[in-house]
Amino acid sequence: MYRHFLKPPPLSRLAMLLFVIVPVASWVLVKPVRVLAPTLAGVTCPTSVICLDDVAQLGAAADLYAEGTAFVAARVGAFGHAPRVIFCASEACAASFGLGERSAVTVGTIGTVIGPRAWKPYYLRHELIHQLQAENLGTIGVLLKPSWFVEGMAYALSDDPRAVLAAPWQGYRAQFNAWNAGNSLPRLWALAKDL
Ligand SMILES: [Zn+2]
Repeated sequence: MYRHFLKPPPLSRLAMLLFVIVPVASWVLVKPVRVLAPTLAGVTCPTSVICLDDVAQLGAAADLYAEGTAFVAARVGAFGHAPRVIFCASEACAASFGLGERSAVTVGTIGTVIGPRAWKPYYLRHELIHQLQAENLGTIGVLLKPSWFVEGMAYALSDDPRAVLAAPWQGYRAQFNAWNAGNSLPRLWALAKDL
């Protein structure tokens, strides 16, 4: 009897797996993981770095990609990898990658998903800066950095044209700009490692 309670019978372990662990794992992992295999999520990838749900928009996507990668490489630092971007023209596509209320999302160095409202140069630059942060500081390293640095840097160095951002982003951008005043690029990344 005592032993029985120490080691749950297989059925209850199976039930726990099915009803507790699997749904939690799916919710947390499956949608972001779709960035790894975007064609499984219903988008097509005409190039090795650009995927999209509406192939007719490939010209616009390629123009944004060329501008964004060149801008970020010159302003923030060279990419060690060619960043992958999934351009969603529809809300259904954005939902399939779990964007929710977000306009766009970046998953480490794996890739960026641009939602239908984010087809603007400064949105893509912002997300590409997040990919560069993950490349320079590590995906886990970025999670450990203060938000004012991670988000403030993305808003400031993407040349986001909005003079006033919603809270807390406005404060993050101001704090980053104050910290970054006078920093040159290699020094910025060196100092960031100590934050
Ligand atoms: Zn951001």
